[in-house]
Amino acid sequence: MSNSTAKREGQVSDLLGRLSESATLAMARISRELAEQGHDVISLSLGEPDFDTPDFIKEAAKKAIDENYTHYPPVNGYGPLREAISKKFSRDNGLNYSADQIVVSTGAKQSLANTILSLVNPGDEVILPAPYWVTYEELIKLAGGKPVIIRTSVENDFKITADELKGALTEKSKLMIYSSPCNPSGSVYSKNELRALADVIVTRPNFYVISDEIYEHINFTSEHASLAQFEDIYEQVITVNGVSKAFAMTGWRIGYLGAPQWIAKACSKMQGQFTSAPSGISQMAAKAAVEADPSVTDDMKKAFEDRRKLVLDLLNEIPGIKNNVPEGAFYVFPDVSHYFGMSDGDKMIKNATDVTNYILESEYVALVTGDAFGDPNCVRISYAASEEKLKEALLRIKRTLAKLK
Ligand code: PLP
Repeated sequence: MSNSTAKREGQVSDLLGRLSESATLAMARISRELAEQGHDVISLSLGEPDFDTPDFIKEAAKKAIDENYTHYPPVNGYGPLREAISKKFSRDNGLNYSADQIVVSTGAKQSLANTILSLVNPGDEVILPAPYWVTYEELIKLAGGKPVIIRTSVENDFKITADELKGALTEKSKLMIYSSPCNPSGSVYSKNELRALADVIVTRPNFYVISDEIYEHINFTSEHASLAQFEDIYEQVITVNGVSKAFAMTGWRIGYLGAPQWIAKACSKMQGQFTSAPSGISQMAAKAAVEADPSVTDDMKKAFEDRRKLVLDLLNEIPGIKNNVPEGAFYVFPDVSHYFGMSDGDKMIKNATDVTNYILESEYVALVTGDAFGDPNCVRISYAASEEKLKEALLRIKRTLAKLK
């Protein structure tokens, strides 16, 4: 980079300077570069299903084009889609959100951004049980909020307890954000565990919680529990969901939230200044997805469940690795701290980032360091890849870690 380019880059806003590059996207970039150099890279760093969008959803989008859903949509989303989401919330989650409590956005990511920017003032504390999805922390920083991390560990299935939540609350606590099923740990909170957290949340009426349920349909337990089901805290919960993961629709960019009306209104106002509204064609495709019987996702879920078993069996053969049994999403988040302080005689491993770099550089398998998710002992393995690739990748990981003493 020339001196003058470096100087100009120094002129970006202070706000941008506070943001970190997405670790998952950085890993994708490095893997691409290695592949371009001719290396046989296996990337297990991705956060998207390796399936295509079902045909009935594509057909709905084609119809939407023919029917001219090509104009500016209403800011909070087309009425029929919000009605369909309202029914979905009631059908799948036992949640009562009327259509005017729903805002459709450009991905669940924008639903999260809208909510955080609508609720968090500079200096407000936002509680993040770790490990958490990378974007939460960056959006909190964008709003000037202060992330307050509650550490968990593989031994307690990466979940927080009511006492831990109570201990993290201060006068400045405004919001908590968690995902269940969780990216990156795959942990799923049961109804009883959520009830215990709700008992703490209800004691603080001006404290809010974003329940990120984007992996709802990739859940291998029999039950998905929504936090907003508890009436005593309904006014304090924002339920975020979307079609990206369940229906293999990451590129269509449709997410949504259900919330108390004043929060939905605030999010709509925020969205009106950023993107106006998400693409009308994608909205009509999403309508077909949320109206469909949830069993349409069963085959994909079954494939993920088989792969989970495969990855867990293969991980089991690697000495020193500790992992929970993820109950949802498509990630395993093993603790690799056993290898910290070890060396192959040349390279010394100090932390999880060194582990991911070592595996990438020696065997060309891309994972993501747990540091990016607020847990420096772990690495994230995505099993949104074919069984053949997963087998080969785990073999390579085993081979390279065996060199460390
Ligand atoms: N929430 C979590 C926990 C995620 O893992 C992701 C995507 O990786 C999102 C939200 C965003 O999803 P979308 O594609 O709808 O923006």
